[in-house]
Amino acid sequence: MVSREKLREITSTLASAGVFDPVFEAREIIREYAGASALMTGEVREEALPVIDAAVKRRVAGEPLQYIFGQWEFYGLPFYVGRGVLIPRPETELLTDIAAQRLDSGSTVLDLCSGTGCIPVSIAVRTGAKCYAVELYDEAFSYLERNIELNGVPVTAVKADARDSSILPGVSFDAIFSNPPYLTETEMCSLMREVRHEPPSALYGGTDGLDFYRALIPAWAGRLAPGGFLAVEIGETQGAAVAQLMTDAGLYPRIIKDPAGADRVVCGETADIS
Ligand code: GLN
Repeated sequence: MVSREKLREITSTLASAGVFDPVFEAREIIREYAGASALMTGEVREEALPVIDAAVKRRVAGEPLQYIFGQWEFYGLPFYVGRGVLIPRPETELLTDIAAQRLDSGSTVLDLCSGTGCIPVSIAVRTGAKCYAVELYDEAFSYLERNIELNGVPVTAVKADARDSSILPGVSFDAIFSNPPYLTETEMCSLMREVRHEPPSALYGGTDGLDFYRALIPAWAGRLAPGGFLAVEIGETQGAAVAQLMTDAGLYPRIIKDPAGADRVVCGETADIS
């Protein structure tokens, strides 16, 4: 056993390495490898020390905590994460909240650019809807498949380019969701050190960040069932531009804010419900 010193030592190592919230991350590391009880007692088992030190070393080198742990929580559910797939962000839970308000076990749902599958898996768990998840890249697709299995939900994974709306012929959707890559060229040049470990293919949305919306919205609007909607996550300055793309595609857009007060989702309705 070692004393409470270990937590203090990790906190100060992470702080010197420029980690944004060293207190939180040091506690997470202790909790992950020594158990929650170690946080209460301050006692860390000797056997846990090598793995803790290895994790701290990787974190000091800039790797995100989520990749080091290999698992992260979204909407209270576990998801495998690692190199090659975007880490689920808390603000994306807004899409699952929208699904929870409006969908049920009779609904059919599509998620585009699924990555880990955090959106369709959490929607399937929360609503019981029949969910399809589309992902193109090999590494991300294998995380998607593993996360469907981990959570034990019948989400159908489809390996395809989300811009190709000829997939799943004959199915129409009560809701289509997407958290596509939406960072601009300028934002890509000033990414935080941790985010630089994530795949650019999951982050970069072209010069103005809007490339995927320009492709996905007109392609998929016509695949919505009557009364259906298309909800996309956006960067906080993209609301007006994405709403216009929804209008151009014949949908009625609403901009929805995240709990931090930033514009985060544009929801395009097939029917005017304002
Ligand atoms: N929200 C992510 C970030 O801030 C970007 C995710 C995305 O492009 N869909 O890094």
